Parts: sequence; C-alpha cells; structure tokens
Amino acid sequence: MLATRPPTRRDAVRGIAAVGLASAFPAPSIAQAAARVIVIGGGFGGASCARALKRMDAGLQVTLVEANRFFVCCPFSNEVIAGLRELEAQQFGYDRIAAEGVTVVASAAAKIDPHARSIGLANGWALGYDRLVLAPGIDLRFDALPGYDEAAATRMPHAWKAGEQTLLLRKQLEAMEDGGVVVLAAPAAPLRCPPAPYERASLIAHYLKNKKPRSKILILDAKDGFSQQKLFEAAWNELYPGMIERIGLSQGGRVTSVDPATNAIVTDFGNYTAAVANVIPPQKAGRIAEIAGAADNTGWCPIDPVTFASPLVPNVHVIGDACIAGGIPKSASAATAQGKACAAVIVNLLSGNSPEAPRLTGACFNTVAPGYAFSQSGIYQPKGDQFAEIEGSVSPIDAPREVRAHEAEQAFDWFKTITVDTFG
Ligand SMILES: Cc1cc2nc3c(=O)[nH]c(=O)nc-3n(C[C@H](O)[C@H](O)[C@H](O)COP(=O)(O)OP(=O)(O)OC[C@H]3O[C@@H](n4cnc5c(N)ncnc54)[C@H](O)[C@@H]3O)c2cc1C
Repeated sequence: MLATRPPTRRDAVRGIAAVGLASAFPAPSIAQAAARVIVIGGGFGGASCARALKRMDAGLQVTLVEANRFFVCCPFSNEVIAGLRELEAQQFGYDRIAAEGVTVVASAAAKIDPHARSIGLANGWALGYDRLVLAPGIDLRFDALPGYDEAAATRMPHAWKAGEQTLLLRKQLEAMEDGGVVVLAAPAAPLRCPPAPYERASLIAHYLKNKKPRSKILILDAKDGFSQQKLFEAAWNELYPGMIERIGLSQGGRVTSVDPATNAIVTDFGNYTAAVANVIPPQKAGRIAEIAGAADNTGWCPIDPVTFASPLVPNVHVIGDACIAGGIPKSASAATAQGKACAAVIVNLLSGNSPEAPRLTGACFNTVAPGYAFSQSGIYQPKGDQFAEIEGSVSPIDAPREVRAHEAEQAFDWFKTITVDTFG
C-alpha cells in the first residue's frame, strides 16, 4: 500500500499546492473537481508537457514530478567534455514552471498503481491522477554489456546522462598523456540522440588537436552506418585528418565486453586498451516506465502515435526518449514537440473532444568544431502504430565554411530557444 502524508513546503521545489492524496480523495470525476494530470520526468518532454497543459487549460491541476531539483541537459554537453563550455550552462531549474501554476514536486516516482490511478513517490507521498504522462527519458542497460555496470561507469564513463559523468570524462581527457588513445564505444540503435556519439568524437578530436596532438580517437561501433555519416566523415577529413578511426559492425566494431580494471575493450575481432574509455551502453526507457507496465520486451514503450497513449496501461501516455516513435530520432526537439502535442491531446480528451493527429517538427544540429556545424530536420506524422517522416532535409555535403559557421550560430539559437521554451 502506498504511504501517504500531506505535502509540505520543504518537500517541494516551489509553489506546492495541496495535491489530491489517493487514499483520502478517490479520483474525482471530471465534473466534480479539476482534472488531475501528473507528469513524471521534468526533462525536455515532461517539462514542456506540464507547461503546455497549464497554458492550454488553466483549470487543470497539473503536477510535475521530477527526481532532481535541477535539470542538467545533454544537448551541448559534448562541448563541456571538450572544455568549450561549463556544466553550469547546462543546468535549468523549475521556478518559472512553478510560477505558472504547475505544482512541482522534487521526488522520484517509485510506484504506479494504474487501477487506483495513483503514484507513490520516494518521499512517501501518494498522488492520484486522472491522466498520467510518463517522460522519464532513458536508463542505461547495465545488464547488456559484460563487465559494464554502474561501478564500471565510474572508470569508463558513458556521459549519456549529463552531470557528473560529463565532468568525469572531461577530467579523464585532461589527465591523459599526449599520445593516448581515446576509445568511444557506440551502441546499436535505438539510442538517445543517434548522431551524438559522432559529434562527441569530433569535439574530442578538436580538444586533442589543440592540447594532445599525438593522441587519436577510435570509435568501436555496433552499427554499420550512422546519422549524417557523410557530413561527419567529410568534416573529419577536413578538420582532423588521421585522428579519428572508426570500426563499424561488419569490420568487428561491436563491443562484446569490457574490463574497467585495465580499461580493456573486447570486440568481435580484437582487443583494445584505452587511455580513456567512453563506453556508451545500450539503453532502455527510464525504469519507472517498466514499473508502470508501459514498457514492452524491447525495454521501450509502445504508444498510439495520435494520442501518445500506452496500449499496455490505461490512462497513461508516454513521450520523449522512452516511447517507440518510429521515424523520429530520440532527441530534445522530438521530446519537446511530443510534450506539447500530448498536452493538446489530454486537454481534448478531458473535455470530451476527439484528439487531432499531431504534426511534429524536429531539428538536430551537430557541432564538429567551434564555428562549424550542420543539421538535419524533419516533419513527422502518425503512420500505423508509429510516426513517419513526411518531409526531411539535411545540410548539403559541399556547403562552404560560411554555411557551416552560420549553422553553428543557429545551433546556439536553437539551444536558447528550446531551453527557454521548456523551462521558462
Ligand atoms: C551527448 C548528447 C547530446 C545530445 N544533443 C542533442 C541535441 O543537440 N539536440 C537534441 O535535440 N537532442 C540531443 N540529445 C538528446 C536529448 O538529450 C534527449 O533526447 C532528451 O533529453 C529527451 O527528453 P526526455 O524528456 O525524454 O528525457 P530527459 O530530458 O532525459 O528527461 C527525463 C527526466 O525524467 C526524470 N526522471 C526519470 N525517472 C524519474 C522518476 N522515476 N521520477 C521522477 N523523475 C524521473 C529525470 O531526472 C529527467 O530529468 C543529446 C543527448 C546526448 C546524450
């Protein structure tokens, strides 16, 4: 049974209001009281969704449950690793979202009871809902790669969730002797932000070129091809000739085990010892999705792409990296677009209207050196049980440097816009 006690100001980030306690107030019908929507996860998807819900219907009781008091965002975290930016520039609080009337609760969701329509938090509270949105992002699959567990990540950082791991990888690069080999292990799809391993390799190369020019980067890849590959490879030839080597799946690049004690990395066809090992393991939806019963045997959450509703758990919607969205890459752009579209769906459903099929737009910028970036963008709509790209564009392969410089500026503008849009 879920423990319940009234929320106090000390427990909440800010602006806590009385939240319906499941045992005290059985879920009210919409006619009796304001409908209650809980969003779990205050990242790009969840924070956008909570904000949009309150803006679209000020009468809704919207609660955002987030495990941390600050969000540390991944876009531009590769720049932090390369020493081009500080981690503080990646951090965002929830004060502005709370000021807009969203109840922000700083605690991890630990249990979900879909029959009682209530969630239990790590701080002991229980909260009731009419609709629940899951936006927990990813978890790393520490059971998928022999030798790689949470302890191994303190020696061989993944840096695939921004924060301490980002700084650890940066410190290891700074401490490495000139001439050392940096090994980056990239997993098979699906993964959070498919082009980000290659952006990371590029920016690490930029750091090495300036600080440790005898060093190299080896990418061991569980895929043959990757997003925007021609653009990356052209940039590597131009900016970092001979510094980045990549071994793809069919050349034996798939990592099969690691040994954190020796920094050894074993693949299908060879053994490597890294001076710095950046091991990005396979991923799955954030654990709470599995606890809710919303994840299938892939580890990710199927959805109805029109409503983001889980076919596995009633009254639950899943957005962002955690959901199986088909043609949309797992990205902050996609999570934000899904968060807003899901909010519109919920407002419609709660007021008895039919939801409209969403049309999502997404853009992804990749910076390979300061002042040098390219991008991919697309428009996505429901097709069958997933989303399909209906229009897409990628930066031209033969663009002059001024275009790359302009795209680097656009990348900064994109970051500013999406973080203000999400966190206020
Ligand atoms: C190195 C790197 C670079 C990237 N660069 C880009 C880029 O340039 N552009 C781009 O569009 N995308 C980029 N991405 C991808 C982007 O970061 C993710 O796709 C995006 O953050 C997904 O949003 P989300 O809301 O699904 O998850 P997140 O943003 O990860 O948010 C999930 C939130 O849920 C919280 N949470 C989880 N479980 C619980 C729980 N049980 N209770 C309460 N809270 C919980 C977490 O604390 C977290 O705050 C990059 C990713 C990486 C790793």
